[in-house]
Amino acid sequence: MATKKKIVDITKEEKKSSEKFGKDSHGKIIKLEDKGDNKERGKKYRIFAILLWIVAIIFEVIGILRLSGVINWFSNLSVVTFLIICIVLDLLFFVPGSLLWKKANHIDPFSEKDKTKFWMLNNLGTILSVLAFLPIIIAVLTNKDLDKKDKTIVTVVAAIALLIAGVSSYDFNPISSEQLEHAEKEVMNVSGGNTVYWAPHSKKYHVDPDCPAFSQSETVYEGTVKQAFEKGLTDPCRRCIPELEEEE
Ligand SMILES: [Zn+2]
Repeated sequence: MATKKKIVDITKEEKKSSEKFGKDSHGKIIKLEDKGDNKERGKKYRIFAILLWIVAIIFEVIGILRLSGVINWFSNLSVVTFLIICIVLDLLFFVPGSLLWKKANHIDPFSEKDKTKFWMLNNLGTILSVLAFLPIIIAVLTNKDLDKKDKTIVTVVAAIALLIAGVSSYDFNPISSEQLEHAEKEVMNVSGGNTVYWAPHSKKYHVDPDCPAFSQSETVYEGTVKQAFEKGLTDPCRRCIPELEEEE
């Protein structure tokens, strides 16, 4: 397919591990789309996300211990100041953990066969944000030593942190392994391959690098369906990718 457009291969652009080639069962040379790689990468991100969440919750626990007088770290700081620092640190570790968790779910999506499990896994960060901020709010409100003003300040700060953590952890555009598989099938059906194209700032991916939809864009990106999904491009262009009936 001859095209005058500048096509950017994002695999090369991102300098990912050198291209691997292999042979299929007919001895034909194919570019390996390493399925295990995405699983591995997703797993790494998930482990790192869980570690960040644990560190975040440890800061909350430290705050509660200082509030209840079990520990007396940084005794030159008032309890209120210490609690606010703990809440901020809690948030600073919690949110990156959630972002990493969501990224992992777009690299290696969960199956949506069980809808409840799918929702819970995708929004695990939102569920855990309650654990990361609600106990400290309860501890402050039930504390007998803090005056009303101090209680209000800390509660408001923690409630705002809970809101930020909860919303930023929520995946508004979750993808499932079935959705990705179906998209790959559709692309395979048209082109016999796995390559798709997209324009910068677009939400759609295309099979045809000369699709009329690209008339306005100088540059077209090239990558696999998985790479498109990872970048948040989950809508197929229906001009160049006809809908495929899912056979049961
Ligand atoms: Zn198109």
